[in-house]
Amino acid sequence: MDFSLSEEERQTRDWVRNFVQREIQPLEQTVLRRERAGEPGISKDELHELQAKARQFGFWGIQTPTEYGGMGLSATMTALIEAELGRSFVPFYFGGAADNILFSASEDQQREYLLPTIAGERISCFAITEPGAGSDASAIRTSARQDGDDWILNGEKTFITRGTDADFTMVFAVTDPDKGVNGGVTCFLVDRDMGWKSEPIDTMGEWGPAALIFDEVRVPSRNILGEVGQGFALALQWIGRGRYLLPARAIGACERLVEMAIEHAKNRVTFGQPIAERQAIQWMIADSAVEIEALRWLVLSAAFQVDSGIDSRHAQSVAKLYGGVKANEIVDRVLQIHGGMGYTRELPVERWYRELRLLRIYEGTDEIQRRTIARNLLKGHVSVRGALG
Ligand SMILES: Cc1cc2nc3c(=O)[nH]c(=O)nc-3n(C[C@H](O)[C@H](O)[C@H](O)COP(=O)(O)OP(=O)(O)OC[C@H]3O[C@@H](n4cnc5c(N)ncnc54)[C@H](O)[C@@H]3O)c2cc1C
Repeated sequence: MDFSLSEEERQTRDWVRNFVQREIQPLEQTVLRRERAGEPGISKDELHELQAKARQFGFWGIQTPTEYGGMGLSATMTALIEAELGRSFVPFYFGGAADNILFSASEDQQREYLLPTIAGERISCFAITEPGAGSDASAIRTSARQDGDDWILNGEKTFITRGTDADFTMVFAVTDPDKGVNGGVTCFLVDRDMGWKSEPIDTMGEWGPAALIFDEVRVPSRNILGEVGQGFALALQWIGRGRYLLPARAIGACERLVEMAIEHAKNRVTFGQPIAERQAIQWMIADSAVEIEALRWLVLSAAFQVDSGIDSRHAQSVAKLYGGVKANEIVDRVLQIHGGMGYTRELPVERWYRELRLLRIYEGTDEIQRRTIARNLLKGHVSVRGALG
């Protein structure tokens, strides 16, 4: 068993590491200042400028297939990259990406939605959650009724990431209430100018999701993504596209936080000694480092399974659950080590504290991951012996 990175993986990882240090981290104070004034951390123009800089070195569409101009990188490489990006809270991501389910769109839809999204000219959002249907997505009530060659959509979606900025949405609606998720849910590509409205939702983090309102929104049949009635499978495909990437980003955040804790512990003197000399502090640092290491291997193991074409869903749930729980414990310890300063807005610790909390909620809460993991074990789909058997 060889746990080392290939030369190419190392070089790619190191390039991203340098890019984050050189181009992203210097923006952190500005981002904090702006966010605290209620403004976006970085403007769209600044984001595009950074993305263009990265593109000069080939970093564009890291998981986008090469035939669409992307890098088509492996899951393992992408996880390594996400961990590096996670070392800063600046909301940067590489350009050239699009939602996985848009790649299965028809040729016309690809021209209208996929290609402009990859090019950064259009912004999409994925809308399944409703006020009455979150963890239980099968309870969605947004409806679509056929009217000639069109469909009329009615309902409300909530907590939709990019819902304020998106100019089109991939929205899931019930087209056959009798069939429900077994053939009665359809995905529609709906432009904002077809008539849906968005209302921003204020959250404890810097993510600004939105509610989307559909009131008699008329959508032509050609805007159905995939087949009528096959929407729920597409939703699951979207959600399952890269659950391992969420905890991958948390690895970088936790590394950075623990580095801050170590630095602070060495410099902060109480009762005549640096707090780094105290066992209470050392144990918090030690436990955090052990958990980061464990998380790294859980994420890489899930990514390895994705690359190998093995059914990786269980491994991804394990990594997502562990990452959410441990990242929150780690940021809490790091805040504790910083004492009162940790609680202030002078340091980014509280920023991370708020952001990492989301990891335990979106794209499957902790409880839903545990439910999946337990079910897999109880039904015998997987064994406690793990992937190696
Ligand atoms: C910032 C943010 C961004 C989001 N972005 C999107 C997006 O882009 N698109 C989108 O469609 N959705 C999005 N969501 C929605 C997100 O996926 C849901 O919030 C999440 O799935 C949980 O659903 P819920 O909030 O309705 O909680 P609920 O499902 O009501 O759950 C409430 C609590 O009950 C627990 N629970 C539920 N069922 C069970 C069970 N069977 N057993 C044990 N415990 C259970 C949950 O774990 C949770 O603790 C986003 C949410 C947030 C906060």
